[in-house]
Order: sequence, then structure tokens, then C-alpha cells
Amino acid sequence: MLEENISAIATPSGKGGVAIIRISGKSPLEIASKMFQPAQKTEVLQFEPYRMYPGRIDAGNFSDYGLCVYFKAPKSFTGEDVVEFHCHGGESVARGILKRTFSLGAKSAGKGEFTRRAFLNGKLSLAATEGLADMINGDSEAEVKAGYLLYSEKLTEQVSALQNELKTLLAGIDASVDYPEEDIEEQHIEELKGELCVILEKLNSLLSGYCTGKKIKSGVSVAICGKPNTGKSSLLNRLLGYEKAIVSDVAGTTRDAVEGTIEIKGRKFNLYDTAGVRTSGDKIESIGIERAEAIIKSADVAVFVTDFVSGVSEEDVRVLAMIKDKPLIKLINKADLINDDTPTDADAHTSAITGEGIEMLKTLLYEKSFGSNSEEAAFLIEERHFDALNRAKQSVEKAIVACEFQPLDLIGIDVKETWDALGEITGETATEAIIEEIFSKFCVGK
Ligand code: GDP
Repeated sequence: MLEENISAIATPSGKGGVAIIRISGKSPLEIASKMFQPAQKTEVLQFEPYRMYPGRIDAGNFSDYGLCVYFKAPKSFTGEDVVEFHCHGGESVARGILKRTFSLGAKSAGKGEFTRRAFLNGKLSLAATEGLADMINGDSEAEVKAGYLLYSEKLTEQVSALQNELKTLLAGIDASVDYPEEDIEEQHIEELKGELCVILEKLNSLLSGYCTGKKIKSGVSVAICGKPNTGKSSLLNRLLGYEKAIVSDVAGTTRDAVEGTIEIKGRKFNLYDTAGVRTSGDKIESIGIERAEAIIKSADVAVFVTDFVSGVSEEDVRVLAMIKDKPLIKLINKADLINDDTPTDADAHTSAITGEGIEMLKTLLYEKSFGSNSEEAAFLIEERHFDALNRAKQSVEKAIVACEFQPLDLIGIDVKETWDALGEITGETATEAIIEEIFSKFCVGK
């Protein structure tokens, strides 16, 4: 079905060199021909697709000199006919041109409507549209990289391959159910079980990537802990490269967890400077301490700071008990204050004042968070995909168990459920509510 023309500014609001107004639908060329005059006048305006034409863009109340390009369906982003105007990047310029497209019949595009049309026209899988959103919203290089892999259908390819295998199994089940012969059915179930086990293995291997993917998407949470005055706030400031946490030599200054974000090798790390964990009579400080405990417990990595001055205290023992099961980096800070080279059990000696050991600390943070195969190409970064894969896994497991004592048609139900769960990733079985939610996160113009 030919859709009505929609139009929006595709570039962000604000002043810039260039702004782009995009129209997609059944007849954007008709609109363009009424408001664009190419510099090289021809009798009839004939747009060759994928070619930039310089010329006058007539916004009604004013004109701009810019470019116009036509993408012919189905070889366009949306799969429909698309026209873009590239004008000067003043907000009023772009808005004026947009308004003109409206007066010529285009409708204002909703959030993510161009991408939704691309999905509905089969140009992108649902997972690929989410990858696109990850790239646009990504605030680290790693997230952009992962988003690009999703956008280029890396996950969809693997999921579709699994779906095809499941479809073949379902066809075999249907055939056997239609023409049952007892001994053949038994042999079939045995083979089916073997094939389901292979699918389960592939699902497990995909799922194992989520551990890295989640850290890429949300960032690795790092709790900098240890007792007051060891230099936690100063270390955080050093890592961030600016003064964020309040530094003071009065114990208990850091009343709340201060968050700052840094990138190490393109990956995001959220740093929390926790208040010293100790008993305090001060009510506000006590709240800070409670929050600190919660952060320490939920962190992916803990950096435990002591200094050369004040050995290990009762508070340190409490903190160490809290972090004993997570990746831990032990630091001795204030290395500038001593001239002693005696080895310690610390992973690094740092000085927040001189910067000594800070690069080492960053390397350790990266290694403790991502391990040795840290450069792996991660693309399972969306919780929605992880959840659907998990449900697919549960259904396969159910089917494998069912192979032991259930007839083929009942096993088939679990196999079909697996297929359906995977279809939520590609979009084949995604409900309208899921689709709505995904596109509501897009901006207008994408
Ligand atoms: P926190 O309570 O653990 O957050 O400690 P702060 O960062 O507030 O630092 C407490 C005091 O130690 C401040 O006076 C800092 O200037 C000082 N300090 C922090 N790190 C270092 C360091 O590496 N070397 C020296 N000499 N002093 C430091």
C-alpha cells in the first residue's frame, strides 16, 4: 500500500552548517517539483535518483540555495520514494522549508516513523532498528560499534539461521504426525533431540555475550571504596580529569556517592566515590553510608583504597567482606608520601596528587571488567534481545525434556514456542506494543 507523504527535519535542532528535511511516501517528488528549481534549468524537472541537484529551495516566504536528492523506492531508507532537501543549517531556514512541505500536502512525521516504515517495508529487522537507536544514543565508541553490528543485522542473521533450523524441524514433526509409524517416530525423536541440543548450544553461546554487552550498554559500575581520607575523591577527580568530588582532609566529607563517567579503550565506566563505610552519629552521613553500601554491593568492580599512613581498620574489614566475591583492585594511594620500595599485596600504588599509577589503574579496570578476550565483537546489548533469547532457551530445554516421554506433536509445541521467541528479535512475532515501545524511543526525523 502506498503511504501518505511524511516530512520532518532529519538533523538536530540548533544552528549548524547544514540541515536536512526529509520527505518519504507515495509522491515526495510531486512536492519537490513544486518547491525546488534546479540551478541548471531544464524544461521539465526530472530527477535522476541518487544524484544531488543544486538549486533554489522555495519555502514560500523566503528561498534558500541548497541541494535536493531523490531516492527511488525500494532503494531508499524507508523503502518508499524519498526526497531530501539539504539547506543552510539555521533553525528558521529548516523550519520554513518543512512548513512548505506541509502546505504542499506532507504530514508531520511521528517519532521514528521513517524507521518504522523501513521496518514495515522489510528494509530492516526490528533488532536492526534498535541497533540504529543504539548508535544514535550511544555515548561510548563501544556502544556505537555494538549498535552498528546490530544495525548491520549481525544478530538477526544468527537468529534467523536458528529459526530456519527450527522451521525444518517443525516441518519434519508435522510430516511424522500426519503419517505416524511407531518405530520411525522413535528414531525421529532421537534425531530431533540431537538437533535440539545443537540449537541449545548455539543459544547458550549467543547468550554468553550479554555479560559484555550489558557492560557496554550501561557502562561498568566501579565502586571506589575504603575508609575516609585515603584519597578516594582525589582519585576519582584524577580519573575524571576534573574536580567533581569534594576533597577535604576532614574525615566523612563525601556524604553521597558521586558519579562520573570515563571511557577506557572506547568503553564506558561509571565511577562511584563511596562514603567511608563506618558507623556515624550524623544522620545525613548515615544515609550516605547506607547508599554507599548498596553501591558497593551492586558494583561490577570494586577499587579498594588504603594509604600508607593508616593501616587496615575494622571498616576496611567490613568493606572487604562486601566485595570479596567481585573483581577487586587493591590500591595503595599517597605513593608520593613515601620512599619505600618494599613490595606490598596491592595491585597498584597510586598518587592522586602526582598521577603516578593512574594509567595502571585504568588498565586494571579494563582487564578486570572485560578479561583477556576484551576486544570481542559484542552485539547482544539489548535487554529485550537477551530476554527473548532466554525464553527461546527455556523452550528448547522443555522440548529436549519432552523428547524423553512426550509424543511428537507435543514436542512440536515447544519447538514452535522457541521459534516465536526468536521472532520477537527479528520482528516477525513482535506485538504492536513492543514495536510501539521501540519506536517511541526514536526522535522525530529518524
Ligand atoms: P577520601 O575521604 O578518601 O575521599 O579522601 P580525599 O580524596 O578527600 O583526600 C583526603 C586528603 O588526602 C586530602 O587532603 C587530599 O588532598 C589528600 N590526598 C589524597 N590523595 C593523595 C595522594 O595521593 N597523595 C597525597 N600526598 N595526598 C593525597
